[in-house]
Formats: sequence, C-alpha cells, structure tokens
Amino acid sequence: MPQPRRLTARYPGLDTSDGAGVRLTRIIGQPQLDLLDPFLLFDAFRSADPGDYLAGFPPHPHRGFETVTYLLAGRMRHRDSAGHSGLLQAGGVQWMSAGRGVIHEEMPEQEQGLLHGFQLWVNLPAAQKMSAPHYQELGAGQIPIEHHPGSEVRVIAGTTAHGSRGPIQGIAVDPLYLDISLAADAQLTEPLPPGHNGFIYLIEGALEVADSPLQAGELGVLGAGDGVTLHARQASRLLLIAGRPLGEPIARRGPFVMNTQAELMEAFRDYTEGRLAPPLSTIE
Ligand code: FE
Repeated sequence: MPQPRRLTARYPGLDTSDGAGVRLTRIIGQPQLDLLDPFLLFDAFRSADPGDYLAGFPPHPHRGFETVTYLLAGRMRHRDSAGHSGLLQAGGVQWMSAGRGVIHEEMPEQEQGLLHGFQLWVNLPAAQKMSAPHYQELGAGQIPIEHHPGSEVRVIAGTTAHGSRGPIQGIAVDPLYLDISLAADAQLTEPLPPGHNGFIYLIEGALEVADSPLQAGELGVLGAGDGVTLHARQASRLLLIAGRPLGEPIARRGPFVMNTQAELMEAFRDYTEGRLAPPLSTIE
C-alpha cells in the first residue's frame, strides 16, 4: 500500500446519558470531537445493568441525516411514524435515512442481560435532507462474513480488500462499515478511498495502526492515505468506519441536522406544529 493511514488523534469519549436516561459513551458529537464529516455522532453503549438502558429512547424526531444502529448483544424494539417497525437483534443493523422527518422510538425489548451496541449518525447532503424517509434493516444472517487466518470481517457497508460487498446500498457518502475480529498478532489491511474520512473504534483488545497504539474503548481518527493496516497486540474486535465528507455547512441542534439556521428553525416549527411527521401515538 503506497500510503497507509496513521492515527491523527485518539478519543476515549464522554460518559453521558440520552433518551430517557440510557447510559452511553459519546465519542463523536461531544466537545472534544464535534464532527468527523460526514459523521455527526458516534455512541457506544454496553451494560448488563437494566437500570442503564431500560428507559430506552421514547418517541423523538429526526430530520436531515441517517441513524445507524448496530447491536452486538441484546434486542431493541423500534417503531416510527412512517409505519415501520421491527426488532433489532444481536448482530443486526438498522440504517435509517430520516430524510425530511420521522418520529420514532427505540426501546430495549429485554429486561435483563447485556445490551451492547453502537449508534452512528451519518449526514445527508443538502439535496437529500428533505427526501422521503427509508430503511435498510438486516439481521445477523444477512451480513456477509469473510474468514481469513486470524481474522474475521463482517461487511455491513462498502467493499473489502477481498471484494466482499456489504448489503447496505445506495448511501450518499459511500460508507465503509466493517466489524473486524483479529486473533492476537494477526494483521489485516483494508483499502480506504483517499478522500474519505475514517475512524477505528476498538471494542476490545489492543491494536496498532501503522505503529500507533489504540486501546479498548478509544476511537482513533485516521489520517491521509489510501488504506489502513491493523496489527492486533491482543485478540481484538473493532469497527472500521469511513465515508466521503460532504463539505457542506452544518446547522444542528438536538435531533435535527440541516445546512442553515433557517432550515433548522423550520424543522423545529414543523415538529411542534405537527408537519414533520404524524405523531407516533397514532401508529399501531
Ligand atoms: Fe432516534
């Protein structure tokens, strides 16, 4: 690989809570790392204490971007104002393009045991912010797995070095979303388009990325280059996520991400006056 990407920064994230009191670690979308264009937010949640997650995310709106939920353990019940509903289970992913607006709720279905997963917010280009909401939802069995000596790659979106294509398609920022498991001392190289921004979130283990260490629970931002080489110091599991930056102005507050303050005000007005989406209570 001519130019392997190096880590330009590492972030442990900020312990916080969201929804009705779900404890989580926010790594993108907090003061230290406000944005990694096109990624607006990255949350990790992992707890075996129902008190940390049972309250869930009661009905709330979104407009102007996409929410991507990937679960490693537990179950999350989802329903929304566009009439979609489903049960996300361990190993499954939901890629929701909110477009012009949805009101939805995301509630842990389980009452005990481990809940472990991630939510990523991916920005939409101006031309798609007011498009109709749509979904791609896949169970664990629909996500291709590449097996190599010492490594395993779950391909959610994008194309790997070996040509596996993820089932999530048609996303504006041409994302890569890989869930990679490495045995101790294993090495893996994946290509990344030079212009795309990317990061690694180390779920567990200990990793070296072009000789920079990354610890479990840290997000490492990838610098310039055309690929990434991972070297596991211990058995490790990580997410490798990248996408094309939009380079557009961002006006964001709470659940709305638009290009201008005027559009942001319109989103709040549409929501309070019932034009963003039908209220969730009317949905069966
Ligand atoms: Fe949401």
